[in-house]
Amino acid sequence: MIQDIRRLFLTFVLVVAVMYATDGFSVGGRYFSDFFRVEGSFVRVYLAEMEVIFLASVFLGLSFGRIFCGWLCPLAAVFSFLAPMSRREAKLDRRWKYATLAGTALLLYYSPGVELTLPPEVPPRYLAIALLLVIVLSSLIYGRVFCTSLCPVGGWFSALGKLAVFRLRVGEECTTCERCNRVCEMRLDVAHGKALNECSLCWACVEECPYRAIKLRFILS
Ligand code: SF4
Ligand code: SF4
Repeated sequence: MIQDIRRLFLTFVLVVAVMYATDGFSVGGRYFSDFFRVEGSFVRVYLAEMEVIFLASVFLGLSFGRIFCGWLCPLAAVFSFLAPMSRREAKLDRRWKYATLAGTALLLYYSPGVELTLPPEVPPRYLAIALLLVIVLSSLIYGRVFCTSLCPVGGWFSALGKLAVFRLRVGEECTTCERCNRVCEMRLDVAHGKALNECSLCWACVEECPYRAIKLRFILS
């Protein structure tokens, strides 16, 4: 039930994000994205609001770790539908996402106020579509390897997740049957409580556990 609600919500987030970033489709001369646009381009708005986004992400990460990845990331909709079809397990070190995070942070730090300018023959919407295709293909083959090992945003929230005040904990009721591990979209060893700072709070393991052993706890440490 919760997974259905989550997929529906993520699909809505994806549609809004794609419309917003690509100017969407016009109906009667009105663009869908006009309803969400503050001013200027998506990139300009994004950079202007960087401080707000940064503070909001710190608050979110220190509260619930990677909840953004499970409930708010536009790409999570694509992954939640396609990743379960993947038959292969990518063996890519999870720490790579901290490297991509560092690279992204350096890029942002040394190019403040820079607007992304593309050659006129490469409209942003084609780039977005191309990127989406790469992500779709990679998730079909390797599941959520992008989230677990490459995404800089995932790296950011995983780091903050180590200090998050709300985290999943496995209680004494656990029999280590590992049913939770099989449904974990982040491929975590939930049963043994390993690397739960990477948990996206998708809630699949909580629903799956027959002993109700997994609970969200308030933790100050
Ligand atoms: S599904 Fe529940 S009982 Fe089984 S390993 Fe996970 S937490 Fe433990
Ligand atoms: S640990 Fe549970 S809630 Fe977290 S990502 Fe895995 S299945 Fe979802």
